[in-house]
Amino acid sequence: SPSTLPDAAIARRLAGVKTILLVLSGKGGVGKSSVSSQLALSLSSSAGGAARVGLLDIDLTGPSIPRMLGLDGSPVHQSSDGWVPVYADREQRLAVMSVGFLLRSRNDSVVWRGPKKNAMIKQFLGDVRWGELDYLIVDTPPGTSDEHISLVEYLAPFSPVSLMVTTPQALSLADNLRSLDFTRKVSLPLLGVIENMSGYVCPHCTECTNVWGRGGGEALAQREGLAFLGRIPIDPGLVRVLDDAKEEAQVTVAQELGVEKVSLEDIT
Ligand code: ADP
Repeated sequence: SPSTLPDAAIARRLAGVKTILLVLSGKGGVGKSSVSSQLALSLSSSAGGAARVGLLDIDLTGPSIPRMLGLDGSPVHQSSDGWVPVYADREQRLAVMSVGFLLRSRNDSVVWRGPKKNAMIKQFLGDVRWGELDYLIVDTPPGTSDEHISLVEYLAPFSPVSLMVTTPQALSLADNLRSLDFTRKVSLPLLGVIENMSGYVCPHCTECTNVWGRGGGEALAQREGLAFLGRIPIDPGLVRVLDDAKEEAQVTVAQELGVEKVSLEDIT
């Protein structure tokens, strides 16, 4: 049964993956999924289009990656060589896997206990045909949860790294400190901090207003001895792009293969 897959399965699947990056946030709603998806898009269109990227969404509480990439409702298929990810582009440079693809409807929710979440993560790592990837970006749930512990356990042999997304209030949030503490306890390297929703650029005058302040992410990075990777302003245009992504670019190789569709029941 898939739940008893040896870690050798994960090793085989991830053999062609160069860099694994976990995207973390102290709490929900700070833009972790937005950053994950935009990062995946820009990496997969960088390097003259030569980079291949995987994006794994394991945010059970709100799998928003399919919607953000205009892939809502795309099926995951079972091939003779494992689950086929959904490709966001025709060139198949961005492979996406999300628990959202396995839900019957966008509004379905998943209420699972730890062991089942652990089994799901094992299957996403050990059963998906990721292929050769320059980057595998993992959008994790907010905070630190069972999912993070499972991920770090399974991924430790592949030396993953992480980055943290915060808002300008970063310095005052205990959740951020808990996330940082987690990375230290499990020796997960943290590349640095991104401050999202940092000020508002008025579309009429292009001047920046600091709605929720500015600089908390940078101050947190400084205080904790971390790299500050940059800030992203609040951008109404980004909300439109993210929340109303059109379903036009999606391609599923599996459709050509004529294979079986995978559903939540297949996670054992
Ligand atoms: P998280 O993954 O941390 O829960 P999301 O990435 O889902 O957060 O973002 C939460 C909401 O905020 C989404 O509706 C998203 O479109 C919006 N959002 C994220 N970043 C920005 C930004 N820089 N400007 C405007 N809206 C944003």
